[in-house]
Amino acid sequence: NVVVRFLKKNLLIVLMVTAIVIGVTLGIGLRDHWSPMEARNIHFLRFPGDLLMNMLKMLILPLIVSSLISSLAALDTHASGKLGVRAIVYYLTTTLAAVIIGIVLVLSIQPGNKGDGKFTRTGKEGWQPYRRLTRLDQNCFPPNLIAACFEKQVTQANTVNHTIPATQKNESVFNLTATLGNGNLTGNNTAMDTVITIESPKIVTADGMNILGLVVFSIFFGTISGRLGPEGRVIFQFFEALHIVTMKMVTLVIWYSPVGIIFLVAAKIVEMEDPAVVFQQLAYYFATVMLGLFVHGFLVLPLVYFVAVRRNPYRFLLNMTKAVLTAWGTASSSATLPITMECLETKNHIDARVTKFVAPIGATINMDGTALYEAVAAIFIAQVNNISLSIGQVIAVSITATAAAIGAAGVPQAGLVTMAIVLTAVGLPVEDVTLILSIDWFLDRFRTAINVIGDSYGAGIVYHLSMDDLLDMDSHEDGIELDA
Ligand code: ASP
Repeated sequence: NVVVRFLKKNLLIVLMVTAIVIGVTLGIGLRDHWSPMEARNIHFLRFPGDLLMNMLKMLILPLIVSSLISSLAALDTHASGKLGVRAIVYYLTTTLAAVIIGIVLVLSIQPGNKGDGKFTRTGKEGWQPYRRLTRLDQNCFPPNLIAACFEKQVTQANTVNHTIPATQKNESVFNLTATLGNGNLTGNNTAMDTVITIESPKIVTADGMNILGLVVFSIFFGTISGRLGPEGRVIFQFFEALHIVTMKMVTLVIWYSPVGIIFLVAAKIVEMEDPAVVFQQLAYYFATVMLGLFVHGFLVLPLVYFVAVRRNPYRFLLNMTKAVLTAWGTASSSATLPITMECLETKNHIDARVTKFVAPIGATINMDGTALYEAVAAIFIAQVNNISLSIGQVIAVSITATAAAIGAAGVPQAGLVTMAIVLTAVGLPVEDVTLILSIDWFLDRFRTAINVIGDSYGAGIVYHLSMDDLLDMDSHEDGIELDA
């Protein structure tokens, strides 16, 4: 009876966890018998997962536009200004806290100096000194190196989707380095988009969608409509209706997510690099990032929430389980946004005006997990290179890691691309991202989950701090009423 009741209440969560277990098992099983797989077969295996990704992505555009515009049109300028400032303060302080946790851990654990301080790996011949291809190769032009590290995915993208012409490959990666070097953080240019497209087609640009631009436009548009009076009311009603319809679609798509997760996870495991290549430093690096993510997501953020809201932070977190599992399954906080909003509104009962305003912004710019990982990875790479960073350089790492996390799009492995910013800032070789490439897809899932947890607590805290303003607004009725 108790079991039945539990299942009834948490059926979807149980299904999602089961999906992850099945996905991992299926992946490991297929890997042994079917590996190395042709790209074509991977494509078939991942198809039900791609379907999920595309369904979630399809909802992002109407969701972001309708959420931001309808909430800003409903809030008066005074309230939305206060909400916005609170959200930004929360995003910046928690992101910086994540970076500091990462730096403290990586400096004390020193993952890059493990294994006799030599960079070694197990190959067929056993332990060997790691050969830095980059420095030793005759034509070691850094862009070619990054090209090489993305080559696998590019080739796959070529075979599978026929989207990226082979000739464009090196050139676009070269542009990427050049653009990042010039400090363009928005991910808003063709070169970077090409690289992101490799990992996750469609979300950023292949179909012309630029989420950061969309967020900025919607904030602008919503704020203006909120001040417009009667005409603004029409805008509000339209986008409110659009929001309701989109959220109804979300509740349907959620039921498909366990199926999608099985095949996303299985396909990723089949195509991942051979785990035998994991060497000692990398294992310590992995453990450092994981420990940092755990400390930040499960201790620091809950503490911040408890101090601000005085409610049980773990109950709040438990209510977000569906979103956290989806983040792990999809490795994309943007794709998870619809489910994050659903959990915030229906499970944690956060006022819709707050959720609609802060969740889309959070999913786009607030990435605590990514920031932490960027800082750890950069310092790890310095340690591997036997370079000890000065205090000034460590501070530069923390600032650029924050910037790189803000600039990263909420798509799989976007953080790996923006890492170039951090490495360049402290004079480390950009091509050394190859050192952490083999396990990045796995860490990506965990940091995405922490990104989503950060966004969720942010919505909870901003809501709590803004209750008086919302009540005030309701009593003055100078905004447009929510249930108009
Ligand atoms: N995959 C992450 C996200 O979507 C970004 C990253 O760190 O690569 O939140």
